[in-house]
Parts: sequence; structure tokens; C-alpha cells
Amino acid sequence: MTAAAASRARLKMAVPPAPRWGANMQMLRRHNSAAFDYWTENSDSNIWEHCGLFEGDIMLHRELLRNGLLNERQTWPEAVVPFYIDPQDFTVNQTMIILKAFKEYHERSCIRFRPYEEDDKHWLLIKGNYSGCWSSVGRRQGGQVLNLNTPKCVTHGVVVHELLHALGFYHQQSATERDEYVKINWENILDGHAHNFNKYARTHITNFGVEYDYQSVMHYSALAFSRNGKPTIEPLDPYAALGQRRGLSDKDISKLNEMYEQDCGSFNGFGLGGYLNELLDYFEGNLADLFG
Ligand SMILES: [Zn+2]
Repeated sequence: MTAAAASRARLKMAVPPAPRWGANMQMLRRHNSAAFDYWTENSDSNIWEHCGLFEGDIMLHRELLRNGLLNERQTWPEAVVPFYIDPQDFTVNQTMIILKAFKEYHERSCIRFRPYEEDDKHWLLIKGNYSGCWSSVGRRQGGQVLNLNTPKCVTHGVVVHELLHALGFYHQQSATERDEYVKINWENILDGHAHNFNKYARTHITNFGVEYDYQSVMHYSALAFSRNGKPTIEPLDPYAALGQRRGLSDKDISKLNEMYEQDCGSFNGFGLGGYLNELLDYFEGNLADLFG
């Protein structure tokens, strides 16, 4: 056994089989890389708005398109998300950024990420070598990819955002009640992109009784899908700013904990918070073993 394999074994980092829900290459081919490539940290838009998928960064699959994806939201049993970060795709520092996003969830919600173990029936395979930043919405049986194209997608805010999709959330401005909070400027939207501003009926999504959140990490920027540099979304509250990329907002946390309330109640003293810290320490101290 090599040193790397021994390290993985000690951390129970089993390697998952190919996921059932990988990259839908037909969707990825629509990706216009120019807007993605031009994007910088100083841009007013969010990078995940430029990934060419449904609403920017939601990966759809043929089966779900046919059946109507909105009924397919699935939560993760016991609020536990098995993960595998493909070591081929990320540097040590990038891996740390992903782990620290997990940590924010551990510290602020009842969600627990843990390394994939053999026999897991569902897991997140975190990849970095497809174009764009993207995820499916909710859990899928048989493994699913969450892609964080390096280096642009590997920032704290983007990782937190994509994980929230994987946990079952759509973008904030899709909310049923959004027209009470924002105005959509249809005339400023790129041709053929109006569908990205759909709102969903209450039969498909719920706000869990939490008020609309301008500060959600899931909110589009004011310039999302703009064809002319003018706002496509304007807050009705003149003092509100749309979205941010620092991390989970307080209301993001409230909704997440509501969505997972029953699952969270079912485990006690799982100790995964401690486990994650151990993993972080381990990565910091033994990176050469894992990535050598
Ligand atoms: Zn998104």
C-alpha cells in the first residue's frame, strides 16, 4: 500500500464508483466560455450566472427535463452528505477551501458532510475539470457530480452556493412571492434567457415560512443575464442589495434547518463536526501523502 493509499484508508476515504448523475455534456456544450473567462472577483455579476446551464448553474438531466424537475427535489437522509473530492482536480489549497465551506455548514446548520464510504447509495462527487460551476438541485440516487471549475469556481461563496443547490435549493428569485420583493426588467434580459427568471409555484417549492431574502447567497445579481449592462432585477426595497458571495445568510440557514428539521432530529451525537475538524487538520498536516 502506498503512503497515499494508507492515508486514505485511515481517513476512510474510499473511492466511489462512477456516479449515475454525471455531467450532461449536451448542456455543457451550450456554455459560452467568453463571459465566464472575462469574469473576475471584481465583477458585479456572480460567476455561477455565466455557466451556460439552467438558471446559470443548475445541471439538468434528460429524464428530469421530461418529468418536470421541480418535483424531483430530494433531501439527504439524516442530513448527512457523503462526499468525495477528486484529488486529481484540485490543489491542496483548493481542497481546503472546499472543506472550509463544509465547515461553515457544520458550524451554522445541522447538515453534516462526511467522506464517502463503501456501500453509500448517494454521494457528491466534487469535480473541477468540467467547464463552469454547477450542481443538480437536491439529492440523486446513485451519486452525482458537483463541479467547481478551477480556479474561478473554487471560492468560499461559490462552493457554499453550489452545495446549497445540492442540498435542495433553487435560486432565491425563483420564489413564488418574488414579485412582492423584486421587479424583473424583461427588456434588459439577453434574448432567449427569459426562462432563467421563472418563478415556481408553491406546489413545487416552499420558503419554509422564511421571508424573501435579498441577502441570500442564492440570489441572482442585479445584472444576471443582462444584454445591455442594465439591471435585470431591481429590489423594490431601494436600500436592498441583491445577493452576496460571503457565505450563508441567516435566512439561508433558517430555511436549510427547516428543510432538514426531521432529518436533523434523527441523529444525536454523531460527532461529525469533530470529524471534519480532524479532516481539516489532517489535510493541513499531511497534504503530501494525500496528493503526492
Ligand atoms: Zn446557482
